[in-house]
Amino acid sequence: MTYRKFKADFLFTGEGFAREDSVLVTTDDGRVQDVIPAAAAGEDVAYYPGVLSPGFVNCHCHLELSHMRGVVPEATGLVEFLSTVIRGRGVENPEAIAGAIAAGEEEMLVGGIVAVGDICNTADTLEQKRKGRLHYYNFIETIGFIEGGAQLRFDHSRRVLADFGDGVIVPHAPYSVSPALFRMIAEQAGGRVLTIHNQESEAENAFLLVGKGEFLRLYAALGLDVSFFEGTGVRSLESWLAYFDPAQPVIAVHNVATREEDLRMARGYNLRYCLCPNANLYIGRQLPDVELLVRSGCFIVVGTDSLASNHGLSILEELKTLQLAFPGLETSILLQWATLNGALALGMEQQLGSFAPGKRPGVVLIEGVEGGRLGGASVKRLI
Ligand SMILES: [Zn+2]
Repeated sequence: MTYRKFKADFLFTGEGFAREDSVLVTTDDGRVQDVIPAAAAGEDVAYYPGVLSPGFVNCHCHLELSHMRGVVPEATGLVEFLSTVIRGRGVENPEAIAGAIAAGEEEMLVGGIVAVGDICNTADTLEQKRKGRLHYYNFIETIGFIEGGAQLRFDHSRRVLADFGDGVIVPHAPYSVSPALFRMIAEQAGGRVLTIHNQESEAENAFLLVGKGEFLRLYAALGLDVSFFEGTGVRSLESWLAYFDPAQPVIAVHNVATREEDLRMARGYNLRYCLCPNANLYIGRQLPDVELLVRSGCFIVVGTDSLASNHGLSILEELKTLQLAFPGLETSILLQWATLNGALALGMEQQLGSFAPGKRPGVVLIEGVEGGRLGGASVKRLI
């Protein structure tokens, strides 16, 4: 068996920085043997200028929307964004869609991403995923705000799930899933992690509270009569949490309009908070209150969202945006969100997320880290 030995200016293990002069030892195919002092590592240690890290975990993507890169104008707000995406979906031919999916995956792979929590409305990404280049957790997304259509929608999602062979059916968002559909989703979860777009804008809270506001324009654009809906009397997060057992793990994505009262209410639930800052800026020029989430002890992970709402599928770019907007966020915390936390959230921690012996987490090199800051950094995949 031949081994590879990596040394860099800094070695991030998934949980923090290793002691100075640490060397990562892996097998040729990247299985971690150990992290040891350079003095004990012997010959053939390869030195890399920069930071070594386990591969990144992208907890929220829609690879199937990759053909929509550049289609939706920026900063139009969520309602406009959703209307455009729903209208623009599937206008490309199948070859163009498949090509964009392959290119999107390649971009993630080159950018150091090893695993993806991927939202699927269709089986368009299935062929690419079968190549096994990245780990995927397939979130089969279901949408249907009209109660009477719930069974039909759920059956459709079950067929998509059957195509993939593995995955779990998840709700799109609190404002697009009926109570009946929520109950079907909760029932099939079986303890597997779910995900949902949560509190992406203040308008979402308003709609869930009283059934009014800007969101009515979205339903009008979709030709849906939602006059039956008078609101739930509570903010968005509380409106959907009620369908789930507190132990049910759920990745809540975006959380732009999540406030302290929401977090207080959600205490005791098994939530992970996924940040997709570049998509938030693209859609509405707003970011979540990340300092509040940190202060409140939230379990945080990171996602890229789709190329319909982002210029790229790069976890490093998401981390840079977070550090620029919230300078108090240290690089080691951000890297932990992007590696070990992501792996834990997707239930892939046995294989990924840290340089613990036995794992095959991928090895990435982050170059251009100046004074501990990610601002000018770039990423290269070593394994
Ligand atoms: Zn999304």
